[in-house]
Amino acid sequence: MKLTVVGCGDAFGSGGRLQTGYQVDWSGGHFLIDCGATVLIGLNRLDIDPNTIETIFISHLHGDHFGGLVWWLIHAQHVGKRTAPLTVIGPPGIAERFVSAAEALFPGSSRLPRRYELKFVELVHEAPLAVGGLQVTAFEVSHPSGAPSYALRFELEGKVLAFSGDTEWVEKLVPAGRRADLYIMECYYFDGAPRFHMSWSRIAAELDRIGAKRIMLTHMGEAMLAHSSNILDPRVLLAEDGLSIEL
Ligand SMILES: [Zn+2]
Ligand SMILES: [Zn+2]
Repeated sequence: MKLTVVGCGDAFGSGGRLQTGYQVDWSGGHFLIDCGATVLIGLNRLDIDPNTIETIFISHLHGDHFGGLVWWLIHAQHVGKRTAPLTVIGPPGIAERFVSAAEALFPGSSRLPRRYELKFVELVHEAPLAVGGLQVTAFEVSHPSGAPSYALRFELEGKVLAFSGDTEWVEKLVPAGRRADLYIMECYYFDGAPRFHMSWSRIAAELDRIGAKRIMLTHMGEAMLAHSSNILDPRVLLAEDGLSIEL
């Protein structure tokens, strides 16, 4: 299985990074975790065809995590001429929020007849969901987005890939990432215990308890990026747009 960082930036363009998106190739196909507004730019840079993605998982309903679905829709319609079914899996209310965003930005775009089936599935806190041979479990975290925000734990090919989403520290981040082969953790700040986001110092205090083999810090703000050379823990790597990791 291979994970590719399509975008690992925050909502503000810090460090010139693209917004959140991770693409996974595995024996069961191809999926995307989060779909920030810039995701088509990132996929284009990496020469990844959006039509090859069968499923998009969304951690929470902020624009830098799900806004790219709007551009995805018009690309599928006018450029990709998509015919393959697409399943979007995310927080309760995701279909309505998607239609509102699409209609605000490209009026009429959500109502055009489609050549492919577009299906939305809602996640439920701590209820494992089987999706085409993998299992995903959502854990509710603390990050106001107009709907529940989730950390996501994927189990596939005997491996665990976890993603914290955006959140301040909550205890559910432990079961979400326990003994994961790779735990992608939001790390906007370097220090302190901020509200609704995480810091490296807060994450560092929990690493032994989580027990993940590797941690990838992501969604880094300017202060965190400025301190990146201070992160010396051998379990920890820093996300970069375009980085690929074999699991
Ligand atoms: Zn974000
Ligand atoms: Zn957010």
